[in-house]
Amino acid sequence: MIDRKRRGTALWAVFVFAFLLSLPVFAQPGRGLKIVDSRAVKVRGAVLQVDFAEGKLDEPDAVVRRIQSAASAIVAYYGSFPVKRVRILVVPVAGRSGVVQGTTWGDMAGFPGMTRLRIGEHTTDADLREDWTTTHELVHMGFPTLPDDQHWMEEGLAVYVEPLARVMSGELTAARVWHDMMRDMHQGQPGESDEGLDHTHSWGRTYWGGAMFCLVADVAIREQTHNRKGLQDALRAIVEHGGTIDHEWDMPKALAVGDAATGTHVLTEQYAKWKDKPVTVDLGALWAELGVKFDGDQVMLVANAPRASIRERITGERVQ
Ligand SMILES: [Zn+2]
Repeated sequence: MIDRKRRGTALWAVFVFAFLLSLPVFAQPGRGLKIVDSRAVKVRGAVLQVDFAEGKLDEPDAVVRRIQSAASAIVAYYGSFPVKRVRILVVPVAGRSGVVQGTTWGDMAGFPGMTRLRIGEHTTDADLREDWTTTHELVHMGFPTLPDDQHWMEEGLAVYVEPLARVMSGELTAARVWHDMMRDMHQGQPGESDEGLDHTHSWGRTYWGGAMFCLVADVAIREQTHNRKGLQDALRAIVEHGGTIDHEWDMPKALAVGDAATGTHVLTEQYAKWKDKPVTVDLGALWAELGVKFDGDQVMLVANAPRASIRERITGERVQ
């Protein structure tokens, strides 16, 4: 009897140990990597602890500057950084150039937000001035973690907000942002067998379909509020209500908080229409109304287009 009891206890201990190992605090990414340098980057609302894993980097100071400017763009869009403590794990990649890859998690070892950036050994200051990955990753911290079927919202939001945050912090011009959106947004249109954003998890629908959802919602909110409110107000309110990456929410809750902040039902109603059905957006008509058009390689911003003032507010320009 005693032996059997002991064995039971041992099995129980193994089970508990396995369970503990599965917890994020023990399974954290980068665990086991040797950290050789650590810097603190401060922005309004947060301290970002930048940890450098072992490996060569030609210009580590430029990497720190890049993280600082990406975090400043997030502050420009959200008013302050969405979570107070952040860990950025920089993992050098031998022989490569540029920001190779980024991943972001919520609630890792005491940090509400953690981003791992794989950065090429020979990355230069000039490479980093073209980098969008760091900003994209940090946008993820300002939205709750959603169920898998709504992963498109987390990614679409990051794709949509990243250039807008950068234009607001002075890193990009508005013309460049609209140029890139016009060039790339069509990748978010539904294909033939599409079953709506909640059920079609292709790359195009997840990233650009989600971004197109955000753009269409942003324009609709601004239409309904006479350009006084936009998606930015909805996103700030979601953060203020605790909707950050370290919290799991469902989609209706996030959208309801966002809608309450703009005094509209745009997000909830648009989600109801888009989640189970393919919705094709007439992007040509949208660009014409916003007053953006290609002139060769360049983009022209048309001042007297019907929704030019909405376009200006989306990129943070003042409207008279
Ligand atoms: Zn992402």
